[in-house]
Amino acid sequence: MSTDSLNYIRFWGVRGSYPAPFGSHMRVGGNTSCVELRVDNHLLICDGGSGIIPLGNSLMGQQEIKEVMVILTHYHWDHISGLPFFVPAFVPGWKVNIYGPGDSRQEIERRISGQMVDPYFPVEVETWLADIHYLGAKNNQLEYGPFKIEGFNVHHPGSTFGYRIQVHGKTIVYASDNELSFIDKSLENRKDELDPHEWQLNKAMQAEERDKSLEAIKNAHVFIHDAQYTPEDYAKKRGWGHSCYIDTATFAMDAQVKQLFLFHVDPNYNDNKIEGLHRDTVRLIHERNSSLECYIAREGFIIDIDKL
Ligand SMILES: [Zn+2]
Ligand SMILES: [Zn+2]
Repeated sequence: MSTDSLNYIRFWGVRGSYPAPFGSHMRVGGNTSCVELRVDNHLLICDGGSGIIPLGNSLMGQQEIKEVMVILTHYHWDHISGLPFFVPAFVPGWKVNIYGPGDSRQEIERRISGQMVDPYFPVEVETWLADIHYLGAKNNQLEYGPFKIEGFNVHHPGSTFGYRIQVHGKTIVYASDNELSFIDKSLENRKDELDPHEWQLNKAMQAEERDKSLEAIKNAHVFIHDAQYTPEDYAKKRGWGHSCYIDTATFAMDAQVKQLFLFHVDPNYNDNKIEGLHRDTVRLIHERNSSLECYIAREGFIIDIDKL
């Protein structure tokens, strides 16, 4: 599809944890998290996983855009490992704005530059010749061109954001890494320690927390969310900060989202397995008579924002 006059979302990296460039994984894609939103010639990039490398290379072939805004959910490698190879950052005349969790701009800079030091990397961020801006934000709210962006906390080790992005009257929610059942599971684990009153209190808090999380994504047109595990694998990896695809689909239905994209899929799962998970999700949606549309986030897939 030609993207010349489109306002669009494009997936450049959809894989969780580490790149998976295997022949058995190519229909879904092997690069780690990176999603491009391009509206009115403004370019917003969610995460700098290995998918940002081909995006950067493609930007070198055009003249209209010389500035980007990169918003990071957190600083685990699969979300920043492409930044040292993001060509526009090395080219004078480009401007790269970077935002992510952190108490100050200096803190964000320190977290980014920390992966480009000896003995882990041959050159430091000083070789970035573009105009690099680390941004602070009041209440985690930012505006960039037509985009209104708001970061919210999710359940993932360390401080991690999901982002609610509003543009052209559409709402896009990006939450690459988020363990939806985190509270349920930690509460279950403590069941024996709590007396009935404490149990009820905790249950009420849990319901309130779920309502709050639902509110953040309510009626989103596009919901891009962690769907890393099968229920079997999730049972082995509770507390790792990722969701089972069934929890993700249930949450999306409860929030009355229009389109769900299963994202940050496990690098151990090949195309057949992920397509199987997708079929199972569609079956669940039909069982609930929900109007939710569900897709696999595939590398290279493009969503026309104006047609949502
Ligand atoms: Zn991740
Ligand atoms: Zn992570």
